[in-house]
Amino acid sequence: MPAAPAIRHERLAILTSGGDAPGMNPAIRAVVRTALDRGVEVVAVSEGLRGLVSGGEHFRPMDWESVGGILHLGGTVIGSARCPEFRSLEGRQAAVRNLIEHGVSRLIVIGGDGSLTAAHLLHREWHDHVAALIAAGRLSTHDAEARPGIVLTGLAGSIDNDFYGTDMTIGADTALHRITQAIDALSSTAASHQRTFVVEVMGRNCGYLALMSALATGADAVFIPEQPPEDDEWPQRLCDRLRAGRLAGRRDSIVVVAEGAHDRHGRPISSSEVRDALERGLAEEVRLTILGHVQRGGAPSAFDRTMSTLLGHAAVEQVLAAESGDPPQLIGVRNNRIQQLPLAHCVEQSEAATRAIAEGRHADALRLRGGSFSDNLETLSTLLRSLPSPPRPDQRRLRIAVLHSGAPAPGMNTAVRAAVRLGLDAGHVMLGVRNGLAGLLEGRIDELGWMSVRGWTSRGGCELGINRKIPTGHDYYTIARTLEDRRVDAMLIIGGWTAYETAFRFLGKREAFPAFNIPMLCLPATINNNLPGSELSVGADTALNSIVEAVDKIKQSAVASNRCFVVEVMGRYCGYLALMGGLSTGAERVYLHEEGVSLADLKADLDHLVHGFKSGKRLGLIIRNEETNSTYTTPFMARLFEEEGGDLFEVRQAILGHLQQGGSPTPFDRILATRLAKRCINHLIDEATHGRASASAIGLDGGTTRIIDLRDLPRMVDAEHQRPLEQWWLGLRPIARILAQPGPRPSMAREL
Ligand code: ADP
Repeated sequence: MPAAPAIRHERLAILTSGGDAPGMNPAIRAVVRTALDRGVEVVAVSEGLRGLVSGGEHFRPMDWESVGGILHLGGTVIGSARCPEFRSLEGRQAAVRNLIEHGVSRLIVIGGDGSLTAAHLLHREWHDHVAALIAAGRLSTHDAEARPGIVLTGLAGSIDNDFYGTDMTIGADTALHRITQAIDALSSTAASHQRTFVVEVMGRNCGYLALMSALATGADAVFIPEQPPEDDEWPQRLCDRLRAGRLAGRRDSIVVVAEGAHDRHGRPISSSEVRDALERGLAEEVRLTILGHVQRGGAPSAFDRTMSTLLGHAAVEQVLAAESGDPPQLIGVRNNRIQQLPLAHCVEQSEAATRAIAEGRHADALRLRGGSFSDNLETLSTLLRSLPSPPRPDQRRLRIAVLHSGAPAPGMNTAVRAAVRLGLDAGHVMLGVRNGLAGLLEGRIDELGWMSVRGWTSRGGCELGINRKIPTGHDYYTIARTLEDRRVDAMLIIGGWTAYETAFRFLGKREAFPAFNIPMLCLPATINNNLPGSELSVGADTALNSIVEAVDKIKQSAVASNRCFVVEVMGRYCGYLALMGGLSTGAERVYLHEEGVSLADLKADLDHLVHGFKSGKRLGLIIRNEETNSTYTTPFMARLFEEEGGDLFEVRQAILGHLQQGGSPTPFDRILATRLAKRCINHLIDEATHGRASASAIGLDGGTTRIIDLRDLPRMVDAEHQRPLEQWWLGLRPIARILAQPGPRPSMAREL
């Protein structure tokens, strides 16, 4: 009979299981460091459930340093594996014994629906396994009593975004980045040769990646498991649609197919079948690209780094607060906030969605995916039309002007494209104002047609033109005349702070100039993310990803030397990019204007750096918002640290500058821009049709869109510093602090 295991003291374990996903590493880092910060011992179980079943060296104690330098790595550094043994009672019993033997009483599992189902099963059967182990003499009653149960928490890690209970699974955003980049690249070659491409993306049971990538790239058609083609005539209709697109002026055609796509009868529709159908119908060569595992690989996106970090942190807080016997929880994100739900319910609902698809209950499957999935599907079906629906004969055709104001932000073109097409499809006239307010003053207004915005989804910069001018003095009269002459019924201003200020000033001139008595709506688009009434603005995600990519490279440039970087990021007086950039890159110090910086702070930070480098640290990273302090500038800080660092370390500054405003928009920014533009156009049409001259701004509030009245602007903002009075992301500050530097453990001061 084997000897009963010796029980060690209480520990928290983490494992990653099933298909790997980018973002698992940031989650592991957050779990380990939060646990250490709370004074809890933590072990990583390598190779997922297989490690749990095998035990022994698969249980590895973790310290602060063991998760240094992993934030930017794809996959999972602690390994993942499929484990057929876990499907058997014996396998799960072995896992229970190993957990008890290694003193693990709290377990965090990161994985897909299979792994989380397995984890749920382990928890449910725990007591049966313990009883069986005792009966077999493999566990003493004494040891069993010392470990009355296991507290379990799950995080959904899967690129497919197929798990109920979280808006996003770990890895889905990065996969969307990969797919979007690939389709953008294919679109340019397809356009050069007037070709048709079929692109197969992952998603056996879930069409999220296919739907969102089609929306983000302006593809012509999409096949997803949740909504099969209406009938068996789909090849004919698809060919007709693509032909109509070509006649309307499209040069490229892209069809996105989810790997799990099928028809009404449940028969698979493979990407090669779509290709063959198109070749036959269009009588031309059609190229097929199966994206495969590139979708899974590579560095996690900024969102996957920050979300996974916050999830990992929250999972530790939850698993430590829970008591043995409490039902396992899933920690996820809902409407941009961390939420927890019973894991059993999430597993059940995820299975229900898969079952609904398998049984052909597509309406149920769509309902289980949530409201925004169906909403995006509907938006896509309008945007991918080759031409707008004809206006109704009795309809009043509104004239809606679109203009930009402020600085360029990636995603502005995407917003204009969506606004123009949705407005045209609703039967109205869409007017584009060139070069912002300056163009409005000069009367540079053109009618925009359906094809005039072709290809704008992925284009960085600002095709309509933009400037920072704000109306003053005689401008009001000139603009009022222009609005009257061009019979503008409603105005959409897409931009940053100056857009809001411009609309607010027009509002104040309504008595003097009745032409301003039209509905006006601002759409937040600035990388600074400093606008009232919206938690996120279009462009901020792209800027954050540009920062993350640049900092990853900067860090790599210093592999061999003792070097500290002071990186300056944009944001004006708003520290969003600095704080989120710091969270996503593992900066040990972030300077924000909101918090200020004193000489005493600089001294403390310097002491920390000196201490770190003396203890073996090789790389330091500090992120500074551009307006943190006008005296303690980036060059000043760099020189100060360099001088005081002596021979211990060198200091280099990197002012990232305008690369943050450029670049092709990320999928998130494209989807946000499209979603906000849709709501804006609907709102403006509604207001103008009912003769309401509101002046408002749209925003994202807890994940849903809302409209704020611009008359409330003065009481919502710190006008001097051009930022909202309340900034939700400042609540993440303490987490950034915990993860950046070990607490009272000087021996572990090595970092990054
Ligand atoms: P994912 O977690 O990415 O969905 P899988 O479906 O392959 O990946 O599941 C990962 C592992 O979880 C499997 O290898 C198996 O060990 C375990 N597992 C999955 N489903 C079950 C189940 N119903 N019962 C027990 N273990 C399961």
